Amino acid sequence: MFEDTASALLGVQGLQVTGVEAAPGGGIEVWVVTACAAARACPDCGTASDRVHETVVTRPRDVRRAGDAVDLRWVKYRRKCANQQCPRKTFTEWVPALPPRCRITARLREQAAHEIAGRGITPAEAARHAGISWPTAHEAFAARADGLLDQDPAPVAQLGIDEHRRGRARFAVDEQTGEYTLLADRWHTCFFDLGGQQGLLGQVQGRTADDAAYWLAGATPAWRDAIRVVCIDLCSIYASAARRMLPHATLTADLFHVVQLAVKAVGDVRRRVVRARYGRRGRSGDPEYGIKGLLVRNLEHLTGAQFTKILDTLDRDRYGQEIAAAWIGKEKLRDALNLRARMTGSTPCQRQIRDRLFTFYDWCAQHDDIPELITLARTISRWEDEIVAAVITGITNATSESLNRLAKLEARQAYGFRNPLNQRRRVRIACTRGYRRRSRTATRTWTRKVTGRKPDPGYQGETRFLEILPFQA
Ligand SMILES: [Zn+2]
Repeated sequence: MFEDTASALLGVQGLQVTGVEAAPGGGIEVWVVTACAAARACPDCGTASDRVHETVVTRPRDVRRAGDAVDLRWVKYRRKCANQQCPRKTFTEWVPALPPRCRITARLREQAAHEIAGRGITPAEAARHAGISWPTAHEAFAARADGLLDQDPAPVAQLGIDEHRRGRARFAVDEQTGEYTLLADRWHTCFFDLGGQQGLLGQVQGRTADDAAYWLAGATPAWRDAIRVVCIDLCSIYASAARRMLPHATLTADLFHVVQLAVKAVGDVRRRVVRARYGRRGRSGDPEYGIKGLLVRNLEHLTGAQFTKILDTLDRDRYGQEIAAAWIGKEKLRDALNLRARMTGSTPCQRQIRDRLFTFYDWCAQHDDIPELITLARTISRWEDEIVAAVITGITNATSESLNRLAKLEARQAYGFRNPLNQRRRVRIACTRGYRRRSRTATRTWTRKVTGRKPDPGYQGETRFLEILPFQA
């Protein structure tokens, strides 16, 4: 308990405020004395002593008051041990908030650790604010973070696996050949909780199938058995790791990456065709260049005028029709993906999805003179089971991507990491922050149904649009 109001306001157990003065450089000087019976006891033998050897004044660092620095002046006694047999002759008083040889209050360390772990500022910034050194702030954070991260993750039903680049790739120029050789390209494989709130579950250095399998092997068999669905982007390495370590789980492909592939194919065709037609790369003023932004949009989000513009531009000659064929291919693929429950409101059946995928393959086969479409169709057919599973379950890797963004932000704030262990620790804390925050309040989670953008009222349904294309018959 505190002796008086001023001591209570200071709030350090065992210290009593005797005076407060304005400090010369702003802030305040707070003079305190020891007000704790236990402080009279020798730390070695425990004998209470009243014999004062000398008086010392220490200046331990403490938290700020309303933004101003607090200059703590602790007047304390060095006492003589009353026990003749004790090897220790003298000792200075100490209180739990300021153990022997400590020059920083426990609450200041705790505050620095919380600012790094809870608020996401860097150890350098936290150290500057607290007036302590970087190693001290970092050590306080590491002690706090390791305690949180060492806990085993709760069972996860939907696991996401994604890669994350650590820093940037480094190259060196070969003296003899003048060619660039890759010196270092460092990656982390990250594991995410897609269904729950646990965020980033763990990271492992490297991005081979063995690296991913190594992390999964470290989990308990019961934890692995609880995983129902594994979501990856179109990456065969992680697919083989998941098949090896989680044979019972359904593998799904992230649909964003599937559409991304199709959009890229359309862009590739457009660039190739423009080069064939003009003998140079596209530039503003070319009709094909004018619609390149429209071609990457979802068909259902085009206005009637935009749709007509695409048709008018592409229907002009065989070059345009080649781009149109790729674009229709993309939309036919999206047709299959749009069967997911988030779009239609009901879970699709497998037959339906495979039928629409077949329509896409059929379209690609009809246009086998377009190599990009053939490559796209081959890739899609290789991942067909995973894509169908993704459409049925509606599970995406969006959480992984958003957490990857957080990881990148963390690296930027730190101006890059030199120490991979520090990086993993900081990233994991950053990516599980929301989870901890929620679990502390543990009131309720608000859910909102995501319906996407409203389609244009003039829009008649994507298949209708494709049917009226003049050159399709
Ligand atoms: Zn003693």
